Order: sequence, then C-alpha cells, then structure tokens
Amino acid sequence: MRRKILVTGGAGYIGSHTCVELLAADYDVVVIDNFSNSKPAVLDRIAAIAGRAISWHEGDLRDRALLQRLFSQHHFAGVLHCAGVKSIPEAQQFPLKYYQHNLEASLTLLDVMSQHGVHKLVFSSSATVYGEAARLPYREESPLAPNTVYGRSKMMVEELLHDLVQADDSWHIGILRYFNPVGAHPSGLIGEDPNGQVNNLMPHLCRVAIGRQDALSVFGHDYPTPDGTGVRDYLHVVDVAEGHVKALQHISAENGLITLNLGMGRGYSVLEMVRAFEQVCGNHIPVRFVARRQGDLASYYADASRAADILGWRAKRGLLEMCADAWRWQSNNPDGYL
Ligand code: NAD
Ligand code: UDP
Repeated sequence: MRRKILVTGGAGYIGSHTCVELLAADYDVVVIDNFSNSKPAVLDRIAAIAGRAISWHEGDLRDRALLQRLFSQHHFAGVLHCAGVKSIPEAQQFPLKYYQHNLEASLTLLDVMSQHGVHKLVFSSSATVYGEAARLPYREESPLAPNTVYGRSKMMVEELLHDLVQADDSWHIGILRYFNPVGAHPSGLIGEDPNGQVNNLMPHLCRVAIGRQDALSVFGHDYPTPDGTGVRDYLHVVDVAEGHVKALQHISAENGLITLNLGMGRGYSVLEMVRAFEQVCGNHIPVRFVARRQGDLASYYADASRAADILGWRAKRGLLEMCADAWRWQSNNPDGYL
C-alpha cells in the first residue's frame, strides 16, 4: 500500500513539481487547490510525467466542511502545505487577503488535521521571514524580522507551528524556507504560469526573451553588490521539490519541529541572471535600469548546510540548467497552461 500525501496548492508552481517527485518516490498524491493562481490543466501534465493519475479537489483551504470530507475520505500519511498567496506588493495593499489565505487557511488545515489524527506536515515558508538585520548568509537561527505583510504572514504560521509542537509532541513538522525557486521540469510540461501581475525576475526574463515585453526593467543598479544589481539565491524548482520529499521522509521518522533553508548557498546578481538566460535562449535581453523596488534588500543568500547535514539534500542543478529549463517551458508553452 502506497502512503497517501495531501498536497495543498498542488496545482501551483512548487506544488506541481513536488507532486511529480512524490509520485516518483512512490507516494499517492491528493491535491486540494482553489485555482486562484493555477489551472486544472497542470494536473494532467503531472500525470503525463509520472505515468499515473492523481486525485484532486477544487476548493479553498478555509472551507472547513470540505477539509472534513477530504480527511474522512482519505487516510493521509502527511500533508505538504504549499497553498498560499505570495505577491509582496499585493500583500502590502490587501493585508487581510494575505492573512486569510496564509494564516487562516493554515489554522483551518491544522485544526482538521488534528481532529483526524494526522500530525505530519511540511510547510512552505520563505526566506522573506529573515530581516534586514540578519547577517549573511542567512542561517535558520538568524533573527526573524520580516519587513513585509507577506513575510509576517509566513512568520506567524511558523510561530503557530512552534506553539503546536510545544503543546503536543505527537506533531512532526518541517518548515522549509525557500530562497528563490526558478526553472521548470526538464520535460517542458510544467513550469511557472502566474495569473495576473508578474513580479518575479525569472517570469519577466522569459517574457522579454519571447518578445512579449520589450526590455527587462532592472530595479536598481547602485546596490553595494559587485555589479550594483540585487543578489539572490536562485535554486532549481526540481531541487526544491526533491527537498520536500526528503523533508517528508525525515519528519515521518522524527517528531518535533525542524526548520531548514532551501537554497544554493550562494547568490547571483540580476545581470548575471540576464547573461545566463541570454546564453541559453540565444536572444539578446535588452535591459533598462530603473529605480530600486521599494522594500528590496541588496543581497541575500542561504547557509544551506543544515539541509545537507540533516536531509542529505543539496541544490544540485546550476544556473544554466535553471535558465534552460525555464526557457524550454516558456517556449513550449508561450501562453502557459491553456
Ligand atoms: P503558486 O501561486 O504557484 O501556488 C500556490 C497555489 O495555492 C496556487 O495553485 C493557488 O491557486 C493555491 N491557493 C492559494 N490560496 C489557496 C487557498 N486558500 N486554498 C486552496 N488553494 C489555494 O505559488 P508557489 O510559487 O508554488 O508557492 C507555493 C508556496 O511557497 C506558497 O505558500 C509561497 O508563499 C511559498 N513560497 C514561494 C516562493 C517562490 O518564489 N515561488 C518562495 C518562498 C515561498
Ligand atoms: N528584479 C528586477 N526586475 C524585475 C524583477 C525583479 O530587477 O522585473 C530584481 C529584484 O529587484 C531582485 C531580484 O531581481 O533584486 C529578484 O527579484 P524577485 O522578485 O524574483 O525575488 P525577491 O526579490 O522577492 O527575492
């Protein structure tokens, strides 16, 4: 009998790649997603890559009755909680939406899990929980002081999870703090397909490369970094997905709570990303230097050694592979999932 895992937000960018790796590791997968930032078409693509279908339910995590039905219907060995909303500027404008989808949804999920005796959870957190004050590289014990609503919504869930474990040692919890996941599955069948406004660097690079945007706006070129542009710790989304499977296996064997950075452990600047992308796509990427983006930090990257020591996990795929896979996805699916 295969163990069955619930993946919340399993139709999203990270969730979909994680489903593929779970299926490859011989788990059964059930997805719940409200498709607010994804499309059901991704589920067929996951099945095509994995060679077997997954079951899925359309619905919102805040719908307690739906969750109750789901947990009564299936016996879950654990939950990977990837659902959430993630736009930093949108969160500043609509904090209630962010606390509802990130915090309230997590509360409802945890409550229903608890009622059904499911105590294994891996939570998608973010490097944005670290504050400006933290020294580089960010370590898991670095101070948390997020400067955005989005970051605070993630930190609050982390705090809630700590309280839960303190109160009840039957919980097994993994908190994964992702740095900057990019790229796509090497098949070119699944990738990042954001609805509405795009904020992140890689989708913008893809849009310029394919001609949907005339130039990349580079936010600031006077940062105290080697070339003046912002530095981030980019890692391949398939490495992130593999990290989930390893984290799930680890927490399944050990109770308590573990927090792990998922990053490469080094940073690349915006201009380094542009050059790498040009190399793989063969097109020139025009850039336009514009003002810094409000709230952006100059540079941050992970100390990823704890995940290596505890899970035996490392981000293996390099920058050119990240860009080549993102480009394959973009050129095979210029309009995303239809
Ligand atoms: P995504 O938007 O592609 O996926 C999230 C999925 O959750 C979407 O399919 C969306 O429809 C669904 N969803 C949102 N609210 C929901 C709700 N209330 N009920 C049910 N489904 C809901 O985002 P992603 O990039 O895959 O990110 C996954 C998680 O990782 C998020 O929690 C995000 O905050 C976190 N994260 C992402 C990044 C990144 O750069 N992509 C970095 C750090 C952390
Ligand atoms: N960035 C940019 N132009 C864009 C989008 C992003 O110059 O159109 C820069 C941004 O200022 C940051 C880096 O690229 O230095 C990564 O930005 P992203 O939004 O992808 O990640 P985050 O800043 O949230 O870590």
